[in-house]
Amino acid sequence: MKIHEYQAKTLLARYGVPVPRGVACFSVAEAISAGQQLGGAVRVVKAQIHAGGRGKGGGVKVVRSDVELEQAANQIFGMQLVTHQTGPHGQKVRRLLVEEGADILQELYVGMVVDRQTQQVALMASAAGGMDIEEVAAHTPEKIFTVQVDPGQGLLASQAEMLARQIEVPEALVPQARDLMLGLYRAFDENDASLAEINPMAVTGDGRVVALDAKFNLDDNAAFRHVEWQDWRDLDEEDPNEVAASRHGLSYISLDGNIGCLVNGAGLAMATMDIVKLYGGNPANFLDVGGGATTEKVTEAFKLMLSNPEVCAILVNIFGGIMKCDVIAQGVVTAARQVSLTVPLVVRLEGTNVELGKQILADSGLPIRSASNMDEAAAQIMMALRG
Ligand code: GDP
Ligand code: MN
Repeated sequence: MKIHEYQAKTLLARYGVPVPRGVACFSVAEAISAGQQLGGAVRVVKAQIHAGGRGKGGGVKVVRSDVELEQAANQIFGMQLVTHQTGPHGQKVRRLLVEEGADILQELYVGMVVDRQTQQVALMASAAGGMDIEEVAAHTPEKIFTVQVDPGQGLLASQAEMLARQIEVPEALVPQARDLMLGLYRAFDENDASLAEINPMAVTGDGRVVALDAKFNLDDNAAFRHVEWQDWRDLDEEDPNEVAASRHGLSYISLDGNIGCLVNGAGLAMATMDIVKLYGGNPANFLDVGGGATTEKVTEAFKLMLSNPEVCAILVNIFGGIMKCDVIAQGVVTAARQVSLTVPLVVRLEGTNVELGKQILADSGLPIRSASNMDEAAAQIMMALRG
């Protein structure tokens, strides 16, 4: 789960990480009054979307008067912000963060990820922070320094100090940078984050080290122990199909192909997408209906897949273990009728009562193509696509 910059900054502030004073706003009017409330010669208006690269896309504006602030708020609020992370359609800006401006001397980068290779948290830092960090990583990776954090010990003050010196924090400010990193690590650890980034971590003209931008990804698997995450979720930022799917207990991920895949079990779903690819096809989605593939769930799953205009054929691949194949077949038939299915449907069933299941499909009168194994299913779906 991703959260907004203003939410990440609220979180970081709890761990003593210095962040600019700021107000989250949900309209231009709110932004104007927040600007007045903050006062000061320089303020910043920032689009709040779940994607980076906002600065380059025109989603971050430094302003020097109330008039400028109003102009910036009007420009950014409601805009379709396109960045290298949003895709070509961009993301509509529905929230703004208005902050006091900082006098930036240096823009540094600090980031953390769970490193699956080492089973530790990797803390990365660079003197070349700011808006071109992707370029730095791609072309001059030697400018990025990394330390591994032993989860049993946590980040050590000595590690943080070493990194601060490597990224050229002025010696007098090394303790501040160290404390910022220690706070960041605690926030990351205690909040079950999978990624956290402060870019830029700014060294300011008045001798402070401040988190000017903040990004946090939280591990959904830990949601049950963080009640407040429910309030942090922003459904406008999520794929509407994925939101609908989660409401019905379905695991659904949109992909860019044209073959809808309905499968039970994540492993079988992955294997299904693999074999579709092997036969030259492209899955339109990953969809795991889970263990209890009830008629209701299967119907919702069909509706979801069909709401994607790209879908030209549907492949159902279900193993009837606890759930018997005849029950599943009945569910598929009922669902196909309910949604008045018009695209070709290939069904591969295996498991308990498979013969009975196939009979139900055959007797339904619906143009369902039955397959006995995964190869056959993939071949059939490709044939169906060709018409
Ligand atoms: P991103 O482009 O989505 O990563 O958004 P950031 O929050 O990192 O902002 C982009 C850039 O705007 C930063 O790298 C800074 O150069 C600039 N910026 C952000 N806040 C301030 C500020 O308070 N003062 C000044 N002068 N520049 C800022
Ligand atoms: Mn940034």
